[in-house]
Amino acid sequence: MTTSIRAVCFDLDDTLYPYRQYARCGLAAAADLLAAETGERYHEQLHELYVDGGITHGTFDVLAERNGLPDRLVADCVEAFHTSDEPLTPYPATEKALEQLTPTYACGVITDGRGGREKLRRLGLESSFDHVVVGPEHSESKESRIVFDRMLSVLSVSPAETVYVGDDPRVDFRHPNRLGMTTIRVRTGRYADADPPAEIDEPDYDCPSLTAVPTIVASAASIEAQSISRVDSDPRSEDPNVR
Ligand SMILES: [Mg+2]
Repeated sequence: MTTSIRAVCFDLDDTLYPYRQYARCGLAAAADLLAAETGERYHEQLHELYVDGGITHGTFDVLAERNGLPDRLVADCVEAFHTSDEPLTPYPATEKALEQLTPTYACGVITDGRGGREKLRRLGLESSFDHVVVGPEHSESKESRIVFDRMLSVLSVSPAETVYVGDDPRVDFRHPNRLGMTTIRVRTGRYADADPPAEIDEPDYDCPSLTAVPTIVASAASIEAQSISRVDSDPRSEDPNVR
């Protein structure tokens, strides 16, 4: 029996583009809002907190507390952070990988990120995918298999026919692995060095970037279904390390 890969689905943040770019735009938008509201510049302080200090959650709460800003501005900053309209740029490998994959495979995006569709629009990728599942639109996340089931159902493919590509071993591979998808980790973004929390979170394949993904998908599509354990990558591309 051979596998027949028919679909390739991707995570969004740090898989198709660097999230830090989104954060940088969002912080600037929030700082602009604060400047308009207070007459003070908080651009540098926000950058220091988020980028240098690594305070990526509750950033505006910390800023407000340190500077005695009213609470209402925290919610406004969060809103400004997520509604910046600055263009985003995909990783260099993203468009090339999609060019190689989309003629052959149904392609989708499954993201837990707020405003996933807006991010795709800002990236110029909104028409690159057959279907997009944005978990927060349904009050769902990759903590549950339902977001993956939604994608499989719309694309009319089985888990065995589907590859899932993500960057974050904490959330990206558990349910795809359980369902029987082929999973590929790209070592890009904030979680490039993160360890999988458990064995079920380990991807089938592990590679430096999306450059290697079309080769892995082609190999996974052609090898025996019951012996998916290794892949011979194109030596001219980045060398994927296989679990
Ligand atoms: Mg991600």
